[in-house]
Amino acid sequence: MNIDLKNLTIQKAHNHMLNGDFSARELTQAYLNVIKEKNENLNAYLHVFEENALKQADEADKRFKDGTAELMTGIPMAIKNNICIKGEITTAASKILENYHATYDATVIEKLRKAGAVFLGGTNMDEFAMGSSTENSAYGVTKNPHDKTRVPGGSSGGSAVAVASDMALVALGTDTGGSIRQPASFCGLTGLKTTYGRVSRYGAIAMGSSLDQIGPIAKNTEDSEIVYDIIRGDDEMDSTTIPESLQKDYSIKDKMVIGVPRHFMKEGIDESVLKNFEESLDKLKSLGYEIKEIELPNIGYVLSAYYIFMPAEVSANLARFDGVRFGLLKEGKNGIEDYIKTRGEGFGPEPRRRIILGTYILSHGYYDAYYNKSMALRDLIRDDFNKAFELVDVILTPTTPTPAFKIGDKCDDPVEMYLADIFTVSANVTGVPAISIPSGFTEKEGASLPLGIQFMAPHMGEKILFKVAKDFEILQK
Ligand code: GLN
Repeated sequence: MNIDLKNLTIQKAHNHMLNGDFSARELTQAYLNVIKEKNENLNAYLHVFEENALKQADEADKRFKDGTAELMTGIPMAIKNNICIKGEITTAASKILENYHATYDATVIEKLRKAGAVFLGGTNMDEFAMGSSTENSAYGVTKNPHDKTRVPGGSSGGSAVAVASDMALVALGTDTGGSIRQPASFCGLTGLKTTYGRVSRYGAIAMGSSLDQIGPIAKNTEDSEIVYDIIRGDDEMDSTTIPESLQKDYSIKDKMVIGVPRHFMKEGIDESVLKNFEESLDKLKSLGYEIKEIELPNIGYVLSAYYIFMPAEVSANLARFDGVRFGLLKEGKNGIEDYIKTRGEGFGPEPRRRIILGTYILSHGYYDAYYNKSMALRDLIRDDFNKAFELVDVILTPTTPTPAFKIGDKCDDPVEMYLADIFTVSANVTGVPAISIPSGFTEKEGASLPLGIQFMAPHMGEKILFKVAKDFEILQK
């Protein structure tokens, strides 16, 4: 049968499989066929796990027969290639992990496996999740299906493109400074960065441990929420997850107030983004939301602070790639030479840049001047957000300052690339949850490019995000 992949959602796919309209195997095969047709050109997947995916689909079909199928059973997913799936190749798009096969399942994978999900393959990304365009992959750039001369965003660009071009129904990404939300926005999708500690990081290859979160990239909020409800929860393998006794959800108020930090939206923002943002505000007003202007006095420092302490964390996390324990080994005359050669050849330019910067920042004499200052700023920015959330229920910004940019445009200027994260990093720096949802399109050079808006809520306010996002979505249809 011909399955309408474009309009499929998790719930719809579930109903079809329940009714016997198609099997999990047929659905998985349909996605594998699209992958065969499109992946060579778009480069969304680095690895396709065809055989195992079909096995998982058969298992799912058994569950439909014996009545134990859940909502995620038989749902074909794309997984960012820095999330471990036991036995599958997991490179984080780095040469240093070439041929590395994960020896265990990440906690999120274990949970999804239990729910019966199907893992189609590992998706392309910026090396070790460092970047905003997927151009930093050691395995070639991923193209934006809306305009193949443009980037899909990053670092979870492959996951976003997989969903946007019907090569998966839903995907997992990781977000350290925007890597789920920014590619979701560039590809016309919904991307969720959860509250820090809401989802276990166990089995996600670490970039910045105080920032990283795994989350869904999906076609809509409903699908994001379904995946979120499965992957959330504390985990004894990750001591930074929020203990179950402290987890909470907010009750949803009838009338919500949306805060807008206009003072932070002055420079370097594309006209099309500003116009779309104003139109989005009008739509939210028409839904009965009150809009209030807010001040986040220290937000102007957020990107600078992030690009100090994040590389510090990177330099510590990436020290483990020594040529002995994982992946690549380039032999020298002794142990130290092995280490230097392996790391010199195994890491690409962006990880090397951040490791060197991070090591410098953490070194004696500079620690106080840089690392500690950035931590002080982090506290101030957190305070700004806490105060703002006393006045408003959610904070709204555009997700990105521009629509998807051209491949190659920002490659030579790292700082220019870093500015792509201006609106997304603060959720990671403060640990609050944030969601990017599609808010329309803009025409650029004959292509229709998606735009997105971002809502941020107080800690553990995911359910608030789902409510506003769903309200807004209805008006988008
Ligand atoms: N683009 C940001 C960076 O390069 C965020 C990356 C991420 O979220 N993984 O640091």
